[in-house]
Amino acid sequence: VTVIIGVDVGGTTMSGGLVSPGGEILTALRAPTPRTAPEEVVGRLMEMVAELGSRAAALGLVVSGAGVGVPGLVNAQRGVVGGLVILVPGLARIPLAERLSAEFGVPAFVDNDANTLALGEWMFGLGRDAASFVLLAVGSGVGGAVILDGRLIRGKDGYAGEFGHIPVELAGPPCRCGGRGCLCAYLAGAALAGEAKRRVGASPHSRLLALAGGDPGAITAETIFAAAAAGDDIAESMVQQACRVLGAGLAMIVNGLNPEVVMVTGGVVESLIPVQDRILSWARQYALADSLAGTRIHLVGGDKGRSMRGGAALVLYERSRRASPTPR
Ligand SMILES: [Zn+2]
Repeated sequence: VTVIIGVDVGGTTMSGGLVSPGGEILTALRAPTPRTAPEEVVGRLMEMVAELGSRAAALGLVVSGAGVGVPGLVNAQRGVVGGLVILVPGLARIPLAERLSAEFGVPAFVDNDANTLALGEWMFGLGRDAASFVLLAVGSGVGGAVILDGRLIRGKDGYAGEFGHIPVELAGPPCRCGGRGCLCAYLAGAALAGEAKRRVGASPHSRLLALAGGDPGAITAETIFAAAAAGDDIAESMVQQACRVLGAGLAMIVNGLNPEVVMVTGGVVESLIPVQDRILSWARQYALADSLAGTRIHLVGGDKGRSMRGGAALVLYERSRRASPTPR
């Protein structure tokens, strides 16, 4: 009986599991992602894969492949991480697929974490049976993935789907990606926290700051949404803007791709669910009505299990894609 190793490398946590070919998670592991030297990040990943390999052996299961999702640009065809991996810079330009398959003797694949998550949801989850499926991942950063007509759209070098870096404010602030006014500046957890920290500096008596225990550095996206719900003006204006930007982002996705299902997921989404009506109301103001009417939009909180399953889905997807007489 075979099993697949699926790993999600997050900015703070690495999660890996043994996943059945049917998408069931049999074993799961977690470890902190080292923020230091490249070799430590790769080393931690190798340790995790090795540990999962021994657990598989102990269960009498044969590992048929390993798939890894990375929070940044990845050339999945070559299995090489690109230069922009803001949350885990140690992985930049590492030929990760080759390193993994050389070490463990199994086929290994690497892709952007939103792509792996989308493949998992499309094969086993909310996007199952959808011919076109778009994922928007809203966590520390904002990522995205596009599946159209049964195919993951990667673009020329594998860098497609980066909805977080779509400019939504032409005169907006510079972004770490090199652009400016990017959607992620108004929606990503890290960006929201940074902006709130800056704003409470001028309002030391705000409810937002009180909710963070008086420490501006302790403000998170969750604190901001909670403070807005409690009537804090600073937090409310940020939530208002986040809802509007996400509504516009959904409209860009809907107008540009006319997808059947859009899934918005990630660490910030728990906070977005209570304001879902406001987000959809903005989406209706920006999107083409006919296109939006045919799209099902789901907001779902982040879940590491889904991410691990995504790593395994990448293995299944790549195996069948590369085996096809005309690989797409
Ligand atoms: Zn950007």
